[in-house]
Amino acid sequence: MADTKEIINCPACGKPMVKIPVPAENINIDICLDGCGGIFFDNREFKKFDEQAENIDEIIKAIQGKTFQTVDGSATRTCPVCGMKMVKNFASSLHQIQVDECYGCGGKFLDNGELQKIRAQFETEEDRAEAAVKELYNAVGGKLEALDAEWAAGRARRSPLRNLFNGMMGIE
Ligand SMILES: [Zn+2]
Ligand SMILES: [Zn+2]
Repeated sequence: MADTKEIINCPACGKPMVKIPVPAENINIDICLDGCGGIFFDNREFKKFDEQAENIDEIIKAIQGKTFQTVDGSATRTCPVCGMKMVKNFASSLHQIQVDECYGCGGKFLDNGELQKIRAQFETEEDRAEAAVKELYNAVGGKLEALDAEWAAGRARRSPLRNLFNGMMGIE
């Protein structure tokens, strides 16, 4: 869904969110300036702000020096754009910060301070990808190596990859 023009209500505290223009990207970011300080990103907007090299001056300027009300980060939120229940997902493979995602319109809601934490996790998109690959390797890599050794020794009936896949799917 494209950038919304209508004022939306914060999915965490219910207050009307304020549109902060980001001229460089030609979009508006919805920030809960009069409530909890949460930020709503429309589909694909978040990708433009999640890395350290990307500019969030407008967002920082808007929230600077403000005190925001505390909200329950674990509460289930409803998407302010399309009305679907939002789903909590980890922002990265580091599994540290959960954000609310809408599978209906692709919107994302971040509680106050989460954007800064997410940006601090990785310097670049490459670092982010590398961390994801490392995690995948931690999960299945060792198993794959063991299967490879078996295969090389001629003891395995099937290829290691087939074995791994069968194992993951619960097939003997
Ligand atoms: Zn709010
Ligand atoms: Zn939505």
